[in-house]
Amino acid sequence: MDEQNFTRSVLDWYDQGHRDLPWRRTRDPYRIWISEIMLQQTRAETVVSYYERFLARYPTVRDLAQSDEDSLMKAWEGLGYYSRARSLQKAAKMIVDQYGGELPADVEKLRALPGIGDYTSGAIASIAFGIPKAAVDGNVERVICRYDAITDSVGTPAMRKRITQRVQELVPDDRPGAFANAMMEMGAVMCTPKNPKCLICPVRESCKGFAAGIAAELPHKPKKKAQRVENRAVLVVRHENRVLIVRREEKLLGGLYVFPDILEETDPAKLCAHMETMGVPCAYDEPLGHARHVFTHLIWEMDIHALTAFSAPELLGMQWVTREELAALPLPTAVKAARKAAMERMR
Ligand code: SF4
Repeated sequence: MDEQNFTRSVLDWYDQGHRDLPWRRTRDPYRIWISEIMLQQTRAETVVSYYERFLARYPTVRDLAQSDEDSLMKAWEGLGYYSRARSLQKAAKMIVDQYGGELPADVEKLRALPGIGDYTSGAIASIAFGIPKAAVDGNVERVICRYDAITDSVGTPAMRKRITQRVQELVPDDRPGAFANAMMEMGAVMCTPKNPKCLICPVRESCKGFAAGIAAELPHKPKKKAQRVENRAVLVVRHENRVLIVRREEKLLGGLYVFPDILEETDPAKLCAHMETMGVPCAYDEPLGHARHVFTHLIWEMDIHALTAFSAPELLGMQWVTREELAALPLPTAVKAARKAAMERMR
């Protein structure tokens, strides 16, 4: 099968029926951009409800550019990888300042915006602006590796370049956006990571991976590093009708609020001593359970503890908040269980 036949077969298959996702009903560059950023680390089914809520809250680039950080983080809460939301806002400000609030119809200019890499610039350019540009994410990479029976390890810049060049040969000038969506659909529903549906695949006859019987083994990925485990004591410190929260500034949780926590400590007396050194003398109440959160390279094993503070001093970077304020603030999914426990304690 030559390039044209591959492209036609994939497009015909896509045209015969595909998942009806809200961002496929628009060519509005802002909406396409938001969907592509959300889809970077999150499944399409999960993104649907966030996408619609986010766009109701921020219907234009200007609304996003003007948002305060807490509201933005709240709108992103649950999607994780919060640096995406911060980059979105930085990019929105640049789009307002440099391009009058309209996304530029230019791959290089898109690529220069925060949070937009090769894949996202290619996706926005092809879907929103009809520019024939390859958009290669993990799904597309998998389809190509299998179709061409590429057994070299993926994950290197050289390999990404090779696959991008290959996809660029396949992008049709007349329907680049439909092709980008069709390739993503292939990766999501047909050429799936496990159990690819080769027997009903539109390009099976010319798929080298299928012919060689190695499709399901591909692509070859470099071995993942083991995830580091951190044991954390998460402290729900209450004084009267308020609890203590901390705003975190580092990359993983920047701009979000969490409860005070301590690494590798379980002794109640030491937990209280720790709070005392922070200027909040406390008494220990009770354990509130265990929670686990898996980040990409890190696992948090969290024991949640209830403490009562003797007073509520004002401290730099910390706030005492009521139950209603706690519900309204952006907290990472990692501390969802602790928030629930805190809310129950504050009834
Ligand atoms: S035949 Fe199988 S391996 Fe080849 S592209 Fe189709 S689903 Fe993927």
